[in-house]
Amino acid sequence: MQQYFAKDKINNRFVLDDQDLFHIEKVMRMKDNDLVYVSYEDKIYECVIKFINKKVNVEIVRETVINNELDCDVTLIYGLPKGDKFDFVVQKATELGVRTIVPYKACRSISVISRDKEDKKVERWNKIAKEASEQAKRNKLVKVERICDEDSLLNYKSKLNIVAYEDVSNEGCNKLNKLLSNRFDSVTLVVGPEGGFEQREIDYLVNNGFEVVSLGKRILRSETAPLFLLSIISYMYECGEVNEKI
Ligand code: SAM
Repeated sequence: MQQYFAKDKINNRFVLDDQDLFHIEKVMRMKDNDLVYVSYEDKIYECVIKFINKKVNVEIVRETVINNELDCDVTLIYGLPKGDKFDFVVQKATELGVRTIVPYKACRSISVISRDKEDKKVERWNKIAKEASEQAKRNKLVKVERICDEDSLLNYKSKLNIVAYEDVSNEGCNKLNKLLSNRFDSVTLVVGPEGGFEQREIDYLVNNGFEVVSLGKRILRSETAPLFLLSIISYMYECGEVNEKI
């Protein structure tokens, strides 16, 4: 069943944005009494489509107990990569349960996004995040923040803060496994761009409570590393053994 995110709720009806109403009527060609899921204020509702005066109305049938969220609030701070890799990571990280994505202008980020282009970029990334959140049937809409620099990185700290550093890649994943085997309410992950991190970026993060980890002996592409981390977290938190919440 298709899922949408509501903008508002009026009595027993949801208000969807025009693009979603167009999608229901013209793309999915839904008819009267077709069913959809709608997510509103982190809850998922089963709803029925009603055409009134040829207009799409979305009426609530029942609130469900569906919870497709990862039981950990994961923030990904990702060093701006070249080209459209950021689009790819927004989509895949959303499927893998990330909650917030922060584009980070790393020292070695080659792509330069001017302030006037930034609004358009962030709007596009949030559109990708919304579509991926709907496709993944998430309760929550993943948010892509504005581009941040080193000074504002610390605004996105969590209970556990991890930076993946390629220069310790030969240290294996034991430390990562140890850190992730205790359940945390929130985790922040930092991954570098294609060129990796400068040592002084790592020093800054370590001095502010971030744990440096290896992702194993192979060097992953910048766009692979966040997915590797999110896959491990969702596996350990939803299928594996983790200790009680900290
Ligand atoms: N320029 C670096 C080099 O060639 O060694 C590679 C950077 S890697 C392509 C991009 C980012 O992915 C790194 O900054 C790091 O955050 C993460 N990463 C990739 N492989 C890793 C590994 N084996 N251990 C830790 N971090 C890794």
